Amino acid sequence: MGKLLTSPNDPCAWCSYHPDEARAYGDAVILAMIQDALGYRWCEEHRYRGEFVNLAASLGWPALESDLGNIAQGPYYYAIGAVFYEEALLLLLYVALEIFDETQAAS
Ligand SMILES: [Zn+2]
Repeated sequence: MGKLLTSPNDPCAWCSYHPDEARAYGDAVILAMIQDALGYRWCEEHRYRGEFVNLAASLGWPALESDLGNIAQGPYYYAIGAVFYEEALLLLLYVALEIFDETQAAS
């Protein structure tokens, strides 16, 4: 993990997995990759990070609070969150984002 700039053929922004590299090493299991709204690429195992970014993008990058930490409004803070936040914090913020989404839908 650990860089905020993106390029089209990047490895997974969390674990550095890349299908070409896995193939080169002869790995039997090749993971699919997704690219999120900020341009980050994620392996299947970490695709929830990209889905978190995509949901935030569709909701206008809201500021959120959770028991483990907060995220400020705007794509920059979501980029930092997706690329650097530990799993527990990210998943709590993901739940907060889903609650925000449902609140928006209900109002
Ligand atoms: Zn990964």
